[in-house]
Amino acid sequence: MKILCFDIGGTLIKSAIYDELVGLTNFEEHKYQLIGRDGVLKVIDDCALACEFDGIGISTAGLVDSERGCIMLCSESIPNYTGTKLKDILEEKYNKPVFVANDVNSAALGEAHFGAGKAYKDFICLTYGTGVGGAIVINKEIYAGNNGAAAEIGHIITHLNGERCTCGLKGCYNHYASTTNLVNMCREIDINIANGRDVFAEFDKGNKKIKEVIDAWIDEIIYGLVTVVHIFDPAVLILGGGIMSQAYIIDEINKRLKNAVLNSYKDVVVLSAKLGNTAGLMGAAYNVIVHMKRDMSI
Ligand SMILES: [Zn+2]
Repeated sequence: MKILCFDIGGTLIKSAIYDELVGLTNFEEHKYQLIGRDGVLKVIDDCALACEFDGIGISTAGLVDSERGCIMLCSESIPNYTGTKLKDILEEKYNKPVFVANDVNSAALGEAHFGAGKAYKDFICLTYGTGVGGAIVINKEIYAGNNGAAAEIGHIITHLNGERCTCGLKGCYNHYASTTNLVNMCREIDINIANGRDVFAEFDKGNKKIKEVIDAWIDEIIYGLVTVVHIFDPAVLILGGGIMSQAYIIDEINKRLKNAVLNSYKDVVVLSAKLGNTAGLMGAAYNVIVHMKRDMSI
C-alpha cells in the first residue's frame, strides 16, 4: 500500500510517499508558490499528479476536525485556510481515501508507531518551536477530547499575571518555554543569534551568559512538565522540536524533573523524539493505513 503524505506548515509543506514495504521515500520540501489555501492545494495537486498512490494522509497546522477532514481554525500563517474541507475536496478529485489530522497529533502518532514511543502504549508528547504543542497518546491512539482539541499544553498558565500569549491569555507556558522565547532571550546577549542552532553553537563554545539563559529556560520547561506529570502519571514524556535533539537539554530535564515532582512520579523518563521532521508524515501515513484497513474489514 502506497500513501502520499503531506505535512502542512506555515512556511513549508513537506511531502513523501510511505510504502508499507520500504518506509518513507521521495521526501521533498515545497515553498508556497501561491498564498495560503490555494498554495496548499497546488502543492498537493502537483505531487498527486506526479505519482501513483492508494491514499492521501495529511498532517497540518491548525485545529482539525478529523472526522470530517476539515480545517476548523488556522492562524493567518496560512491565509484563507480556515474552513477548508480538505478531505471532501481531495477525495472527490482523486477518488482515494484521505485522512486529515493536526500536525502535533500526527507527529505523536508517528513517534508512537515508528519512533521514540514504539515501546510504550501511553505517553505525552510535547513539541517546542515557535510555540509549545502537546498530544496525549493512550493505547497508541490520540486522545482527542470533546472538541478534538485536547492537549493544548502550551496554554496552561505557568506565570500568574505573566506576559500576554498569542492566544490572548496571560502567562501561558507557550510564551515562556518555546524555542522562540529562548532565542529572543539569547538575542539580548548577542544580536546575531537567529535560531536554536546559533544558541547551541555559543553554548558549545563555552559562552557562560548563554548557558545561564538556557538553564533558566530549562526551568520554564520544567514548570509545565511538572503539571503534566502530576495529571497523567506517564511512564514517558517524548519531547520534539529541533531544539530537543540537544543532549544537554534532555539530560538536564531528566535530572531536574525528578526533583520537582512528588515521589510517586520519580520514575518518569524524558526522551527526545526520534523521527525529526518526518514524524508528522509518518503519523499521517499511519492514519490513512489504519482507516483503510478498518474500512476493508467491515
Ligand atoms: Zn496561550
